[in-house]
This record gives sequence, C-alpha cells and structure tokens, in this order.
Amino acid sequence: MVVQKFGGSSVADGERIRTVAEIILNTSKETRTTVVLSAMKGVTNLLLEGADSALKGSAQYLDILATLEEKHLTAIHQLFGDSERKVPLIERVLASLADLKDIYHGVELVKECSLRSFDLITGFGERLSTAVMAAYLNFRGHKAQAFDTSQNIIISDDNHGQAQVFFDQSYTNIRKTIGAYEGIPVITGFVAVSHTGQPTTLGRNGSDFTASIIGAGLGADKVEIWTDVDGVLSGDPRIINNTFVIDELSVEEAMELSYFGAEVIHPSTMLPVVEKDIPLWIKNTHNPSARGTLIARKIQPHEREITGVASIPGAALLNIEGGGMIGIPGFASRVFSALAKAKVNIIMISQASSEHSICVVIRQHELTKALSCLEAELSTELKQRRIQAISVKKDLEIIAVIGENMRGRPGLSGKLFSALGQKNINILVIVQGSSERNISFVIQESEKALALNTVHQAFLG
Ligand code: ADP
Ligand code: ASP
Ligand code: MG
Repeated sequence: MVVQKFGGSSVADGERIRTVAEIILNTSKETRTTVVLSAMKGVTNLLLEGADSALKGSAQYLDILATLEEKHLTAIHQLFGDSERKVPLIERVLASLADLKDIYHGVELVKECSLRSFDLITGFGERLSTAVMAAYLNFRGHKAQAFDTSQNIIISDDNHGQAQVFFDQSYTNIRKTIGAYEGIPVITGFVAVSHTGQPTTLGRNGSDFTASIIGAGLGADKVEIWTDVDGVLSGDPRIINNTFVIDELSVEEAMELSYFGAEVIHPSTMLPVVEKDIPLWIKNTHNPSARGTLIARKIQPHEREITGVASIPGAALLNIEGGGMIGIPGFASRVFSALAKAKVNIIMISQASSEHSICVVIRQHELTKALSCLEAELSTELKQRRIQAISVKKDLEIIAVIGENMRGRPGLSGKLFSALGQKNINILVIVQGSSERNISFVIQESEKALALNTVHQAFLG
C-alpha cells in the first residue's frame, strides 16, 4: 500500500490535476493507493489574504472569493469538459465558497480574526482540492471519495496555526475511516481537529506531515511526496547554481535540511514514518520516471564531505552581554523560559565559555515580543548594570551545512570558513551541534546568495 501526497504546484490547474490523476491511477493498478492533497497552488495564501482584508474592513475579500471561484471552476471545466457530471461538483464548490463568504463577513463585522478562525478559513483550500480530485477520479470510472481530516480523523491540541498531533488517537481514526474504505481515499493535507472539536492546521507546508501520519496510521509500505523538483536537491535551486538530486538521505539529514529551510519537505514529516520504518520518497510530478530521493533510516554510504546546504531567512540576533551572568547557575534557563513563555521560537543558541554573553537567534518578526519579555525578565540585572545591554542585529540569514559524513572529519570547518573568508563574508555566530551533522552560521541576509553558492561550490561543486 502506498500513500501519495501531491503538493500545491502539482494541483495548480486542471492540466496538472489530470497529470496527477494519471499517476494515481497507474499506481493503483499495482497497489492500493491512498492520496493526500494540498490546496491548489496559491490558494492558502489567497485565503489568508482574504481574512486579512476582511479584518481590515476592506471589501477586497470579495475579489479574492471571485478569484478562488474562477480558479476552481476553470480547473473543473478543464477536467470535465462539457459533461453534465461536473454539475454536483460545481454546486459543492459554490456552496463551500458561500460558507467562506459568511465567515469573512463575520470577521469583517466583529473586526476580529482569532487564530482559530484563521484555521477554519485556511482549511478551505484542501477541502476544495480533494473534492475536485475525488469527483474527477469518479468521472474517470474509479471509486474514490474525499476525506476531510478535520472531521474527527486527525486529532490535535488546540495550538492553532501549528497544532501538535495526538498520534495514537489519530491512527485509530485513520484505520477506522480511511482504512475501511475500499476505493481511492483522497485526503485533505494540512488540516486537523482539536480534541475540543475545533478545526486546526499543522503549519504551512503541513500536507507533507499529513501524508506521513496517514502512512503511519495505515502501515503503508511507502509514502511518496510528489512535488515540482526531481527530489531533495543539494541546495535551493532558486538560489544555488549546479545543485543536484541527492539519491538517498538519512532521516536525520532530511530533518536538519528541512528544519533549516529546505521547504521541499516539512520537518515533521520524518517522525511518524521513521517510527514505523516506512521509507519516504520525494518524486517529481512533472517527471515521474525520475528516481527521486529516498529518505530512510539506513542509506547507502557516499563519499561527499557534506550532503547539502540550506538556509533560513528573516532571522535576528539578540546578544545579552554583561559580567553579571558569570558563574550564576540558572541564568540561561531564565532567558529561555522567558522566551518560551512569550512563545518566541529560538532557532540557535550560543554561549561562549567565558559566560560573558548569551546569544540567541530568532525570527525577526518575533523580535519586539522577544525584546520586551527579556527586558521584563532581566529588569533588575539591567538596572544594576549586571547586564550591560541586550543588543540586536537584524536582517540576517542562518546557513546550515549538513551531512552524516561531517562527523569526525577534521579540517571541515577550516575549509568552510576559509572559503567564506576568501569571499569576505562576515560571520556573526557559528554553532556546531554535538551530533556533528550540522554546522550553522549567521550572516547578513544580503550575502545569502554569495555564501550559499560559495559553500556549495567548495564542497559539492
Ligand atoms: P509543494 O507545492 O509540492 O509542497 P514546495 O514549494 O513546498 O512544493 O517545495 C518544493 C520547492 O522547494 C521546490 O520547487 C524548490 O524550489 C524548493 N526547495 C528549496 N530547497 C530545496 C531543496 N534542497 N531541494 C529541493 N527543493 C528545494
Ligand atoms: N496548503 C498548505 C500551505 O500552503 C499546506 C501545504 O501545501 O502543504 O501551506
Ligand atoms: Mg510543500
């Protein structure tokens, strides 16, 4: 049994949906096939823009609704041609969009859109794309049905926008509903439901994670993530020249690459499948015969010094400096707890052994929140000048160099930093995890392309 997930670019329009249907139908001739879909390309962003405009009291959300209608109806016409069989589907899409209009109108009236409402709104994209695909597979003569994972299938906590999944309960539901269905299940990615019954979402790009949860729940033989590139590449092809497909990646390498910005796969995707030892493949919808990338616990060894590079934009650095921290146990923990309480996500931490400064790297959009919570937590130390300052640097990029082969290889960081030095790239922070599978460093965002290409050329060129 195989779970196939198709991302937004794979279902961008009617033509693409038809191509995806071919892939699904070809696979289902060989083995039982379960499908997970993202929203059509751009739809989740449109849904969010609609919510923002309703919140501001702007009627622009009506235009967005019209765009959404046009996008889905055009795809339906491309798929069904003149056939009358499209009529119930069109009615269903229009009814969904009418519900969405009511929700937007509600947001406009109350001038409030909670994270919970955002989750209700953003889930519409996956509900629409799955309805279209299931109906099209029916039209092609195959038994298929859309499943909405926010209907008591994938259960999460109520951390809206980035909900945490309750796996065991979800697996039971998946087996009972989807597992019992005999046709081709076409399942919404991205959405879930809280234990209190509210729709939630698993974070942007979360459909990859859904596919993995479904695969683990059903005990699939493999999970395939179908996207618009030939597999996981040695770096972001939009920025780096001469990237190539990585044939095999260890689970840890895949997690590090995705955590550090390789958006081809959501970082949480690896967890459910790894636990059940299910292989994960990344494949290209536009080039189905390409082998793709295998992500698995055990992979074939290779000779390259590193496996890939990735980067996170929009970072900011907070440096807490002062002699008053030296030798005081629990100081770092206060800093981290204060940030955690304010729900600021720390991406990197470094403390020199002199204990004279602690540096944390966070996302720039959380900077104001982070600064005010730290100033409150450390107000006494700041007043007594035991901490001299909390300094800030903005517009930074975190670059991560990743690979299993980096472990125990002397000279690797020397080579890395001398290559960067030769290009005059200034490095603000360096961190190497004790796993030695990752060296990360922070630079000015403006030097991102140069730094990424320099590292890629030095190790993989
Ligand atoms: P989907 O719509 O299928 O979910 P995404 O846009 O989320 O696709 O992810 C695929 C894109 O990720 C690729 O088109 C590519 O531009 C980008 N990308 C960034 N880093 C990498 C990488 N290391 N390997 C492959 N693709 C990458
Ligand atoms: N549609 C969602 C997003 O755009 C989830 C996904 O595509 O994986 O983030
Ligand atoms: Mg994606």
